[in-house]
Amino acid sequence: MKMKKITIIAGPCAVESEEQIIRIAKKLKKIGVDYLRGGAFKPRTKPSSFQGLGEKGIKYLLKAKEITGLPIVTELMTIEQVKKYADKIDIIQIGSRNMYNYELFKELKKYSKPVLLKRGFCATYNEWINAAKYISDGNNVILCERGIRSFDSSTRNVLDIQAIPFIKKNTDYKIFIDPSHSAGNNYMIEPMSLASVVAGCDGLIIETHDNPEESICDKEQAIDIDALKGIIDKIRKCEMINN
Ligand code: PEP
Ligand code: MN
Repeated sequence: MKMKKITIIAGPCAVESEEQIIRIAKKLKKIGVDYLRGGAFKPRTKPSSFQGLGEKGIKYLLKAKEITGLPIVTELMTIEQVKKYADKIDIIQIGSRNMYNYELFKELKKYSKPVLLKRGFCATYNEWINAAKYISDGNNVILCERGIRSFDSSTRNVLDIQAIPFIKKNTDYKIFIDPSHSAGNNYMIEPMSLASVVAGCDGLIIETHDNPEESICDKEQAIDIDALKGIIDKIRKCEMINN
């Protein structure tokens, strides 16, 4: 039986301090996470919300990488940020709100770096795939389904799990799932992660904090380290079903 390894990206919604990101990175490393996530530039809906530590946040992520060896994933929002940080980041995240920012994609194209392209929350598959093509036809672009807006506001968004077979059938891009921003709560993270793995996703990006209650942003959807460990253990068993 051929095993397919699911890539696990985990970490807090935002880098909150140097101590916080290093502490969490060490714990994530121990449970077998592949990449550390953490937002330094945060696209918040309200201007009064915490906007991220910016440049300092990138510096702290790089420090966490140096200490733990975990490669880093973080969002960049502008052409200037891409010029400045593209070479330092292992996977550049492009957020849902920027999925139509074609000028940003033309800049990204110059770097051939891995890019995690989140689906716009109202974007069709074709709009999303065409956005990816602006960046690259190659395998350095990973598509990330992070929930789409529906008529029902009981949950933050709705995870479109059908995106997995659609992207697999119609493109050569990898597809990752972000159950955190689709659910917007912590109790759906495990079932949605496992369902995504069985449906054939290539990776997961999961917001994880060692003290979710104290997360500066998106605390409702943050899971703790033990919960993530439980999910990873189950995923390693599911990986066999799929191949
Ligand atoms: C995030 O991953 O922190 C984020 C803001 O995601 P999205 O762009 O999917 O809302
Ligand atoms: Mn978040």
